Amino acid sequence: MVGVSTALALRQRGHRVLLVDRKSPGRETSYGNAGMIQREAVMPYAFPRDWRALWRVALGQGNDVHYHLRAMPALLPRLARYWMNSAPKAYAPVAQAYSQLIAHCLSEHEAWIGAADAGDLVQRQGWLQGYRTPALFDAARAQAQAVAQAHGLSVDMLEGPALSAALPGLRGGLLAGAVHWKDPWSVSDPGELVERYAALFLRMGGQFKQGDASTLRQDGNGWSVQTADGRVEAQHAVLALGPWADAATRALGYRLPLFIKRGYHRHYAMDRPLRLPLLDTEQGVMLAPMKRGLRLTTGAEFAALDAPATPVQLAQAERSTRQLFELGAGVEPQPWLGARPCTVDMKPVIGAAPRHAGLWFNFGHAHQGFTLGPASGRLLAELIGGEAPYVDPAPFSPRRFDAA
Ligand SMILES: Cc1cc2nc3c(=O)[nH]c(=O)nc-3n(C[C@H](O)[C@H](O)[C@H](O)COP(=O)(O)OP(=O)(O)OC[C@H]3O[C@@H](n4cnc5c(N)ncnc54)[C@H](O)[C@@H]3O)c2cc1C
Repeated sequence: MVGVSTALALRQRGHRVLLVDRKSPGRETSYGNAGMIQREAVMPYAFPRDWRALWRVALGQGNDVHYHLRAMPALLPRLARYWMNSAPKAYAPVAQAYSQLIAHCLSEHEAWIGAADAGDLVQRQGWLQGYRTPALFDAARAQAQAVAQAHGLSVDMLEGPALSAALPGLRGGLLAGAVHWKDPWSVSDPGELVERYAALFLRMGGQFKQGDASTLRQDGNGWSVQTADGRVEAQHAVLALGPWADAATRALGYRLPLFIKRGYHRHYAMDRPLRLPLLDTEQGVMLAPMKRGLRLTTGAEFAALDAPATPVQLAQAERSTRQLFELGAGVEPQPWLGARPCTVDMKPVIGAAPRHAGLWFNFGHAHQGFTLGPASGRLLAELIGGEAPYVDPAPFSPRRFDAA
């Protein structure tokens, strides 16, 4: 989503643009997510600060986090920085910057959805953040109302008959209530939305070639990369490699504090499909109605990018979802596994590579890259073209890490 959106924004400004991917567009993380365009996500996902919550994670209780012990020594320094950035004083400016960018997610997607003729994939009815425990719902209600008021968002609280009406098929008595975030949109096939954006890019005169970013070289005044049709040269290159950005930027001599949070999904047949996505908050599972069935997506798994799949969270997600709804069989034999590309300060990396002229970065969008692709694609295109940026780019600059 991030690479294709950047290519679109550059092409729209009249640049000659070649999109290079080792697969086709929209086959990796942007294929497997929960498909939500999260206008309400003005506060990026922080780590809990209270020790009881951390102990719960360490002891493997709850289903929102799972970890591979052998991956932890390499990960701990970055997770410690993430935890420090989650402290109120450090977190406030992060959330302030994040909210400025995400404020544009709907309008920037809207322009491409219209031009790509992709309206049939998009529902504009928000999503539900559900709670099983009344006290937790009460706390969430107060917090959601405060966030909504501060950021001009629209929110409703659903309980009793209103909740049953929003979630037909929900077994009675299991959910205490749900926060209905009304602004966000949801997409019934996230990979297909990226494919439609990529098709639009080609119609606008952009080009696509298969190739490997590991062959990127600085040549004379510009950059070259090997593609299936031979070597291609350009004045500028943008790295938008999602979870693979760490390896590519290390090869160029950078040590950016990137890491990943893996996640799984699987589709299930459902006779009475959900109208809206539902987060079963206390079980750490998102239930997203998709073309292929109900897509259950899991929380964070801390593991190496290429470690074998350990879908224990998905197995638990299936059990807990079967408590709430009548679910049919799993659609695919094996679950999908992907990785959220994260940074230690919860903000994406958007801007000029600090030590290479003509090289640009756009990655690290963590939990909201599907949401933020068009908004950050526009920001980077404006920076490359020397236009006045529509959002302050300083908080997202790669230099914030390089200087450190
Ligand atoms: C379970 C789960 C649920 C999520 N739910 C949501 C959600 O509801 N809403 C939301 O906004 N976000 C969500 N996210 C996060 C979101 O999916 C990611 O932030 C986003 O997809 C990242 O997009 P990207 O374009 O940076 O990376 P990707 O989509 O992974 O794209 C990277 C591209 O780089 C290519 N590539 C990699 N290496 C090379 C190479 N060497 N050479 C050439 N090409 C290469 C890949 O083929 C791929 O096309 C979720 C993530 C997960 C895992």
